Amino acid sequence: MTTSERCELCHQASLEPVYRAAGTARDLTVHLCRHCGLLQSLPRIDRAPRRGATASGAADWGNIRYGKGFRTAEAIAALRRHADLSTPVKLLDVGSNRGSFARQFLTVAPNASILAVEPDKRVAHSVDELAGVELICARIEDVSLADESFDIVHSCHTIEHLAYPGRVLAEHWRVLKPGGLLVLDAPSTALLESEDVVEEWFIDKHLYHFSARTLMRMVSVAGFEIIETPAPGDRENLLLLAVKTGLSAQALAPDPREVCEAEARITTYGRNRAANLAALTAVATEIARLSTGRIVIWGAGRLFDALITSGGLSPSLLAGLIDAHLGAYLPERHGLAVQPPQAIGEILPDVVVVMSRTFADEITRTVRQLAPNAQILTYGEMIGRARLQVAA
Ligand SMILES: [Zn+2]
Repeated sequence: MTTSERCELCHQASLEPVYRAAGTARDLTVHLCRHCGLLQSLPRIDRAPRRGATASGAADWGNIRYGKGFRTAEAIAALRRHADLSTPVKLLDVGSNRGSFARQFLTVAPNASILAVEPDKRVAHSVDELAGVELICARIEDVSLADESFDIVHSCHTIEHLAYPGRVLAEHWRVLKPGGLLVLDAPSTALLESEDVVEEWFIDKHLYHFSARTLMRMVSVAGFEIIETPAPGDRENLLLLAVKTGLSAQALAPDPREVCEAEARITTYGRNRAANLAALTAVATEIARLSTGRIVIWGAGRLFDALITSGGLSPSLLAGLIDAHLGAYLPERHGLAVQPPQAIGEILPDVVVVMSRTFADEITRTVRQLAPNAQILTYGEMIGRARLQVAA
C-alpha cells in the first residue's frame, strides 16, 4: 500500500507506511521510501499549532527545546577547521532558539555578523542583547533573503521539523556565497538500535528521520559537497559540514541497501521498545523495594515519564526529583517539584536513581560528590537486569 505523496528526497511515489507512533497527537504515520530509504512521517503538517511544553515519553513530547545548546561546541569546532573566523564572516543561524550558538560563535568570531531566524517569540529575543546579531522572528520558509549573501549557514536540529526540507536546503544553497559553508545537525536513526529504548523516538515534532546516508544525499542533491561526514561513533546526532558547489540534475539512484537498513532499524526498535516497556514494571518494583530509604530520581525527562506511566512507579515513594536543566521549563512532573542538583544536599538521599542515558556518567560523578553515602542505580543497569528477569 503506497500513498500518492512523493518522497521528499528522491521524488518517487514510493512511500509505504511502516510504523505508527505511540500516542501521536498529530495522527502521523512513519513511511519508508522504497526507492531511497528515507523515513518520513505523513501527513506533512505544515505550520502545526504550537503546544505547551511536555516531557512525555510518548510521541507528544516537545516544545522544550533545550537540547540545541549541547550541540554548539561541536558545530563551532567543525567550522574552525574549515573557515578563518577572525574575518568579518556573515552567518545565517536557522532556528536560533535561545541564541546559544550565536553567543558562543561570537566569542570565537568577534568580527562576525549574524542573522538569527527563529519563529518562537517566547525564546527568540534572547539574542537581542548580543551586538552583531540581527533577529528575524519568523519561520525560515517565510524569510526572503538576497542571493549569495552569507558565508555560513548554521542549522541545528531544525531540518527534521520542516515539511519540505529539500526546498529549504535549496534556499540555504541560494543565499550562500560560492564556496560558502553549511553546518547541519540532525537526530540520527542510529538511535533506533539502542537496546534500552523506552521513549517513543518518532515524536510528532519530527517529520523526517535521517540516517547519515539519507541526510548526506539530501544535502548533495541540493548542490553541496560534503567535506565532513557525520562521526560514525555518534549515535544520536548527524553533524556534517558541506560546501556550496554546483547543482547536479541527475535523478537519484535507488538505494536498496539503505531501504533494508531502515526496515531493520524499525523492526529492532519495535522489538526492543516493547520488551523494555514490559521490563519497566520490574524496574519500578526494584525501586519500590528500596523505598524504606529515601529515594531520589535524577532525570525528570522522558525516561522518568515512562517509568511512571508505563512502569507504574508511584511518585509518592520518592523523596525528590532532580534535573539540572528541565526545572527551568517544567517546574513540576507527576506531582513532584523538579529541583536543581544542589537540593540533593538537603534531601540526603539513601538511593539515587539516574534516569538519563546521555548524561548518566556525568550525573553519577556529581552524585558521588553531593551525596557520597548514597547508593547509585542507573537506568541502563536496571533495565538490563529487568529484561533478563522478564525473559527468564
Ligand atoms: Zn525516496
